Amino acid sequence: MPADADLLVIGGGCAGLSLAAQLGSYKDRARRTIVLEQRSTYQNDRTWCFWGDITTPYAHLADHQWGELQLINGEQQVLIDCNHTPYHMLKSSTFYDSVMTGLAHNPLLSIQLNAAVVTEPIFRHGLWHVQTSQGELTSKVVIDTRPASSSSELEAVLWQSFYGHEVLTNEPCFDPACAELMDFSAPNPMQIGFTYTLPVSTTRALIEFTTFSAGRLTAGDLETALMQSIAKKVGGKPYKIVHSEYGLLPMGITHRGANSTPKDPSYIVSGLHAGAGRPSTGYAFQRIQNWAAQCAARIVAGGLPKAQTKDPYFLSQMDRIFLNVLRDNPRHGPDLFTRLFSKAKSEQVIRFLSDKAHLSDYAAIIRAMPTAPFIKQLFSGKALQ
Ligand SMILES: Cc1cc2nc3c(=O)[nH]c(=O)nc-3n(C[C@H](O)[C@H](O)[C@H](O)COP(=O)(O)OP(=O)(O)OC[C@H]3O[C@@H](n4cnc5c(N)ncnc54)[C@H](O)[C@@H]3O)c2cc1C
Repeated sequence: MPADADLLVIGGGCAGLSLAAQLGSYKDRARRTIVLEQRSTYQNDRTWCFWGDITTPYAHLADHQWGELQLINGEQQVLIDCNHTPYHMLKSSTFYDSVMTGLAHNPLLSIQLNAAVVTEPIFRHGLWHVQTSQGELTSKVVIDTRPASSSSELEAVLWQSFYGHEVLTNEPCFDPACAELMDFSAPNPMQIGFTYTLPVSTTRALIEFTTFSAGRLTAGDLETALMQSIAKKVGGKPYKIVHSEYGLLPMGITHRGANSTPKDPSYIVSGLHAGAGRPSTGYAFQRIQNWAAQCAARIVAGGLPKAQTKDPYFLSQMDRIFLNVLRDNPRHGPDLFTRLFSKAKSEQVIRFLSDKAHLSDYAAIIRAMPTAPFIKQLFSGKALQ
């Protein structure tokens, strides 16, 4: 019996849709692909930010961009100049709409909404059999982008938990030319916590309270700190909440359950919980775009799909040491980030955080860090975990 598709993509979130969009760019050379997504509709559920220029994937669709960012640590303010690679903000609804429009124009690509995969796919008679809430589908290749199904399946050095509201004020409160990457105004010795403010006009901004901690925090855990941050940012003036979002990102995955490891070269796992996030930042959007472009090229050329590329050894060790230092010394977190952005040049830090570092950038980042806690980590053996 012929397969229903050449490729089944489980999960139509950032990774699944990015891959579908890349396959769509090959027009009639794309493979017959079905994306299986459990949602019935797409909403603006997250806001993606990344540094880049006009050639960076999805930069042309960005809803706002900033050429200047700020880091605030007590009395100290560090300006981060990113005019050459502005910090772009892309609403997920903009991304979802763009990909859906593209899919509708290519008969080889389709998405099934309301199609939750309900059991683990089985390989039988040369095909993958995938049971969904709408019935069974078969294909030669599966790309599984589902997040881990339970918290025991995934462990990380640190968790980035954040909760934010987009607020609208009557009076001008914000400077839309400068976003605040980190404001450590309310230091907490137990965890690293900061406010992240993305102003899109003088009266509208997404304000998030973020923590980096060993444990995972819920939106409810972050609510009080978020409301305090908003009150401070709007100077006590009245405001209306127009959108909210919550996120929990692994920083430095240390363990993945059996369901998140590849079963066969024709079945790969991908996405945030399969290691797409940059350990030291949790950022995954542009790393997913790189993976999607490479994976689509491989599939169109008749090859097997490609998993997320592992970070170079040196980069992954730098990230791991940095995360271990943060985890073991949370009260030093604000100073570590302040040193990073004030002692190294903005463009060097941005290249480092965007996976585009030159050797001289690595050297500048290492020089910016305090020696003692890093040497201690280096000789603790934990860096190599
Ligand atoms: C609020 C938020 C803000 C973020 N901001 C940034 C940022 O600024 N910059 C950045 O680089 N990264 C950011 N990230 C991190 C990362 O880019 C996103 O999490 C990204 O969406 C990860 O893509 P993904 O495809 O792995 O997961 P998702 O986008 O979550 O996609 C997984 C998909 O699988 C579907 N699914 C799950 N189970 C099933 C099933 N059984 N059957 C069928 N479908 C299923 C889900 O419905 C979902 O659509 C953010 C994350 C969040 C949550």
